Amino acid sequence: MADAEKYVHSFGPSGTDGSAKMRDLLGGKGANLAEMTLLDLPVPAGFTIGTHVCNYFYAHDKQYPPELKGQVEAAMAKVEKEMGAKFGCTKNPLLVSCRSGARDSMPGMMDTVLNIGLNDETVKALAEQSGNERFAWDSYRRFVQMYGDVVLDLKPKDKTEHDPFEEALDNKKKAAKVEFDSDLTPAQLKELVAEFKQLIKTRTGHDFPSDPVTQVWGAIGAVFRSWMNDRAIVYRRTYGIPHEWGTAVNVQAMVFGNLGDDCATGVALTRDGALGNPGINGDFLVNAQGEDVVAGIRTPLRIEETMPKIMPKPFEQLEQIGIKLEKHYRDVQDIEFTVQKGKVWMLQTRNAKRTGFAAVRIAVDLVNEGLISKEDALSAKRIPADDLNQLLQPIYDPAAKRKAQEAGQYLAKGINAGPGAAAGKICFHAADAEALWAKDPNVQLILVRRETSPEDLRGMKIAKGILTAFGGASSHAALVSRQMGKACIVGCGDLEIDYHKGTVTVGDKVLKEGDPISIDGFTGEVFSGLVETRPSEIIQVLISKTMKAADSGTYGRYEQLMKWVDEARKLNVRTNADEPKQALEAIAFGAEGIGLCRTEHMFFDHIDDFREMILATEVADREKALGKLLPFQRDDFAGLFKAMAGRPVTIRLLDPPLHEFLPHSAPEQEALGKKLGITGEAIARRVQELHEFNPMLGHRGCRLGIVYPEITRMQARAIFEAACDVKKSGVDVKPEVMVPLVGFKPELVDQEKLIRETAEKVFKEKGVKVDYMVGTMIELPRAAVCADQIAESAEFFSFGTNDLTQTTLGMSRDDYAGYINFYREHDIVPNDPFQTIDQDGVGQLMKVAVEKGRKTRKGLKLGICGEHGGDPASVIFCHTIGLDYVSCSPFRVPIARLAAAQAAVADKKK
Ligand code: PEP
Ligand code: MG
Repeated sequence: MADAEKYVHSFGPSGTDGSAKMRDLLGGKGANLAEMTLLDLPVPAGFTIGTHVCNYFYAHDKQYPPELKGQVEAAMAKVEKEMGAKFGCTKNPLLVSCRSGARDSMPGMMDTVLNIGLNDETVKALAEQSGNERFAWDSYRRFVQMYGDVVLDLKPKDKTEHDPFEEALDNKKKAAKVEFDSDLTPAQLKELVAEFKQLIKTRTGHDFPSDPVTQVWGAIGAVFRSWMNDRAIVYRRTYGIPHEWGTAVNVQAMVFGNLGDDCATGVALTRDGALGNPGINGDFLVNAQGEDVVAGIRTPLRIEETMPKIMPKPFEQLEQIGIKLEKHYRDVQDIEFTVQKGKVWMLQTRNAKRTGFAAVRIAVDLVNEGLISKEDALSAKRIPADDLNQLLQPIYDPAAKRKAQEAGQYLAKGINAGPGAAAGKICFHAADAEALWAKDPNVQLILVRRETSPEDLRGMKIAKGILTAFGGASSHAALVSRQMGKACIVGCGDLEIDYHKGTVTVGDKVLKEGDPISIDGFTGEVFSGLVETRPSEIIQVLISKTMKAADSGTYGRYEQLMKWVDEARKLNVRTNADEPKQALEAIAFGAEGIGLCRTEHMFFDHIDDFREMILATEVADREKALGKLLPFQRDDFAGLFKAMAGRPVTIRLLDPPLHEFLPHSAPEQEALGKKLGITGEAIARRVQELHEFNPMLGHRGCRLGIVYPEITRMQARAIFEAACDVKKSGVDVKPEVMVPLVGFKPELVDQEKLIRETAEKVFKEKGVKVDYMVGTMIELPRAAVCADQIAESAEFFSFGTNDLTQTTLGMSRDDYAGYINFYREHDIVPNDPFQTIDQDGVGQLMKVAVEKGRKTRKGLKLGICGEHGGDPASVIFCHTIGLDYVSCSPFRVPIARLAAAQAAVADKKK
């Protein structure tokens, strides 16, 4: 007969079955308790019930595998032997704790029960053994309360409900006229235990179980059940932890931090988790049990300040343990400990959670201390690439945010589309923003809109942040603000915006135009009023040059890290930029070229000339209007080429439908008519003609240049004239002309012909030639599937994953905010597909395009310029399918560089 499956693993001085390698089965806590035991650290003996039991439990109507009972009994007998005490014994009782522990830590999301094994008999033995009656009854009181809360489910269900046990405790303290639990006498604690038990009987109809074996199984079941509690589910969804992982349960002999003043309990980090400063730090409480530290009943003391003074020996032990753990795990540890009678006991260790600031500092310091290699420092687990954002953006002071929350300033939450903190006066219209800026260039504004359109661009530039009620992560507002490096929240559906009244309403709170508002683009949270921000030192060094590199420790570490990043990565990183200023910022962030210049953005500075072109009905009139635009485009391109100084610049021909550029209200149409010498009605008629029911699938992209070849000719001329001029001035140029929205090879052939003919003409006129390429975006499923045909004409492909996602999924990139959160919450999609590439769908099309494209043209250059180009998971995917570069907004360039390095390092380790 095959051996029965092993469901239980023991740890203790006389034998340990598990190790840190068994985290999938034992959970993080169980695996590390085993590992610490193997390291000879002081760990109370215990055992771990594996995550496979949790899965069995849920697959079998909350039953356990039949073998579990026997295995738990055997493991408990081992603990009894190690501790020299017996579970349930009325003379020398063993008490245990029962705690959850998933593969990845989910702090505070699941349940814990302490002091299991106490009843009216064992409590007396505990009092006698410890010589401390108060301690024994305090432990018993805590146990009954925890058992009632966690196992019997009597904890309050929402904020409005009171915890019946806390209420009874408060009443007892009031009657006894004392402030702290620790001031209650044994007699008062005894009364409290009786009251708690009565409460349980009244509420559940059953007696509190006095049998320790029943108690421990009750606790085990409660921990398994807590895997599926609401907050655990939400946490897993937020951090991408699969529901199938399950939790382990750790049953461990109790040690006591509440036996007297030479006892304590605490949580510590071996380095600071906010900024990464070295040295053990954390919170502890003298004469207390674990949950007191987190419960906030008594204010804990700072370990690093007070412990050396009042508990010097245990502090020294703790420091030594911390050093040993860091050396062993080669990372910062977050530990839980108990000091019992002057001796430190370890209850948990895990890699510490940390901010982006701390992540960078810790990784760099650990390399410099010789604990890890440079490649280790780059691991995505140590520095999630997205967290680099925190180093670049102004951030809210966490304390200021907490204060604002307490003061009732919290308003709503939307999609966190552009990271950063921004605060300013509410402004609803781009034109108003411009007017206010004209009066005061330092004006701080937040542009609050239902959604934004290209016409709002100027207002967006002026605003410190952008907040919209509609739109998703690749809506116009989102991508433009990211490109500008501005804080942005989109799809904030709780906002009711009334342009007419000039108000924004959330529930019963009404804010008016000009009222202050603060948005946290990291989290999507919106606050009324001004919340204080701090500028990023890296921006001060690299962009505004208001700080010297040598004066900023943060910058120094960033620079060191990014050097290792560039040594490791294979993917090139470019930027999406339309202006020299953006291009220069991106270069400062490490961009190696422009992957997408959206030429239409340039037209907004000359909107009336552009409108004249659109309104023209005859080719000659259109050409005349285009002739006015030519010098502007040429200057813009020349500016970009100069800024990029020989790096490749991908310029995309006009893409959006023409009606987007026309005025839609009658007064605006009248005003434009006056300027152009035609009637408002004529303009209205043209607007009507250009109206499309589904403009995103309408007359846009290369379809414009094919029907109106003069537009392509003008744009190509502007590109090549600028390229020749800049080359003549001694600066190298590498233009790459990109045709948008190609689905059929003949579309590209048509446009390529125009581009190349124009190039030849310009080269002749200018007497100089430049090397250039003609390629296309792959942003339609047909283009991906027919990539072999398209590559016959294209010298490069750039994946336009915004449109490719929209057309593959049949989800409008501008209208998905209404249901995407619901989809996320119901696990229908694992991510927002406009933020992270849908690898199973869109990703497969990309793969097909890469393979087919390279089959036709071996050296085909491949990149991505959709918003996904700055998303770490998508960058890793792009590395995997063999792209040459990713292109993203300037402020995401460092993130993409790091993600690219992480992909390369992970590849090497395979
Ligand atoms: C895309 O579709 O991914 C793209 C980059 O083009 P745009 O966002 O301008 O449509
Ligand atoms: Mg597109």
